[in-house]
Amino acid sequence: MGRIIHARDIDAILASNGYEPSEYNPTTGWGPGYRTAQAGRRQVNVFHDGPGEADSLTAYQRELQAAGYCVIPDQMDRGGRRRLHVPSREEHPVRALTIRQPWAGAIAHQSKRVENRSWKLPGKHEGARILIHAETQLDRDAQIYGPHLGVYGAVVAVATVTGCHWSEDGTCCGPWGFDRAYHWTLTDVVALTEPVPAKGALGFWTPPDAVLAAVQRQVYLPERTSP
Ligand SMILES: [Zn+2]
Repeated sequence: MGRIIHARDIDAILASNGYEPSEYNPTTGWGPGYRTAQAGRRQVNVFHDGPGEADSLTAYQRELQAAGYCVIPDQMDRGGRRRLHVPSREEHPVRALTIRQPWAGAIAHQSKRVENRSWKLPGKHEGARILIHAETQLDRDAQIYGPHLGVYGAVVAVATVTGCHWSEDGTCCGPWGFDRAYHWTLTDVVALTEPVPAKGALGFWTPPDAVLAAVQRQVYLPERTSP
């Protein structure tokens, strides 16, 4: 049931926090205020009509996040209208993977496009867009191939996991692939200009909405279409 989101629920949150809805006037059009639009069963878009669009949307975003929603600010191309995407809570699709430094930084800022793991990539994550999170600790055995990105306990990049293969002798995925390890291959890496602090966990984990929102303010993460 959490899959479905209704514009009326979003209206109710904004109204109960004292915001005025935009009302339609046949001669003058939409009056100042918020306006919600259902976009399929799993997303509601929020607009602000009238002056103060940017500030009002920021205020709506704060209220909706406080109510537990993930909110993704967006602007139509070429300085077009601003809006907020509000996906249904269960749709929160993005997972994160915690990786020790300097490896997370090497993915974000160098040529590392492979993650060495002792376990096989679970098939359901193949093709997923994930957050690359730098662990709080440094891997002391690591060979550092370039400048070390000294960021710990933060999301540093977004990447797509494309697949996984076993490497017996480490001759593939050089110079980053280890021997006798599963190589999880990565592509389309986008480094965050402002790393987003987060706690991290073992395996794939679900970032809190606030973390995801802070990442999404920097990088566009498409909504996943299948569960
Ligand atoms: Zn490989």
